[in-house]
Amino acid sequence: MSMMQSNKAITTDVAIIGAGPVGLFAIFELGMLKIKATVIDTLPALGGQCTALYPEKPIYDIPGFPSVDAQDLIKNLEEQAAPFDPQYVLGEQVIECKRQDSGWHLVTNKGTSITAKAIMIAAGCGAFGPNRPPLAGIEQYEETSVHYLVAKREDFRGKNIVIAGGGDSAVDWAVSLAELANKIYVVHRRDKFRAAPDMVDKMQALATSSKIEMVVPYQLEGLVGDGKALSAVTVKSMDGEVRTLDAQHLLAFFGLSMELGPIASWGLGLTGSHITVNPGTCETSEQGIFAIGDIATYPHKLKLILCGFAEAAQAAHKIRDIVYPDTAYHFEYSTSKGVPA
Ligand code: FAD
Repeated sequence: MSMMQSNKAITTDVAIIGAGPVGLFAIFELGMLKIKATVIDTLPALGGQCTALYPEKPIYDIPGFPSVDAQDLIKNLEEQAAPFDPQYVLGEQVIECKRQDSGWHLVTNKGTSITAKAIMIAAGCGAFGPNRPPLAGIEQYEETSVHYLVAKREDFRGKNIVIAGGGDSAVDWAVSLAELANKIYVVHRRDKFRAAPDMVDKMQALATSSKIEMVVPYQLEGLVGDGKALSAVTVKSMDGEVRTLDAQHLLAFFGLSMELGPIASWGLGLTGSHITVNPGTCETSEQGIFAIGDIATYPHKLKLILCGFAEAAQAAHKIRDIVYPDTAYHFEYSTSKGVPA
């Protein structure tokens, strides 16, 4: 996988906006038609909702997999795409899309510019962004100590962790990480949690041991550290009492915001906050721009990964006509064609 840095100019056949499961499978479908892809995602990791929202949950309706954890599905999709040598531009949001000559020109918020013959928008519900707590200097700890999702449980083994929030994520992760963390402080501004009652009971039961300490009703107040690694989190009660919690990690679960964002202003035909497409080709109202996966809509659309996979195949075949306008197409199964070594 080649990871691009900011302020680069990239020329590619197809720019795929969104590295969720559907964007990743599109690399494969395009690759089988000898079409190169560059994939851009706001998140620093591949996988879209699967990685950001439910990495360790099993999915039961991926054909051929009776059960597959979301993060394993993403790992497999990355492996399936790898022979086609995709370029990944991660941690960058596409903010501009303009027609240029016979193709398209995209610009990201970090200044990367991408010229492509066609665009595939696989942007799900839009760009993900965590709802950040308003703490001074929080961004400098985001690579190391402040997290908005748990990518790997093992990273938290033996650590002191502050988990902030009052919903399912906060409660589920408090219970799950209690198995391996040294100590967990659960910080919430109320003593009621908006989460599955049996999980709340489990958390409260663990709070009678030394594994979990309930710090309620408190709010996050500040971060203590050397600018790279966190050493403590300060919290404040409703009547102004401040406590310092000795912790190397803060997990803040205040929800993710998902916004169609700049895509809404590109002049594409929309149905509500979804992009209207021709169901046979997934082409949008703009010739050369395609939308697939959760963001695309047409009559009887199902927001399922398996439908997104089929849309990726349909769009890729239509894009072939754009990339290779003078070459006749002969359909071949993957079993006959094989994949690059
Ligand atoms: P997403 O996974 O949403 O990925 C889109 C990506 O695009 C994101 O990473 C986003 O950051 C990026 N993006 C958006 N805008 C921009 C931009 N301007 N610039 C750069 N990047 C951008 N589906 C099933 O089929 N079976 C299930 O069992 C199932 N279970 C689920 C359980 C949960 C808890 C949830 C939340 C969803 C579940 N789903 C399930 C739904 C499934 O996850 C979605 O259908 C799937 O993720 C859609 O894939 P996608 O690639 O279209 O979009």
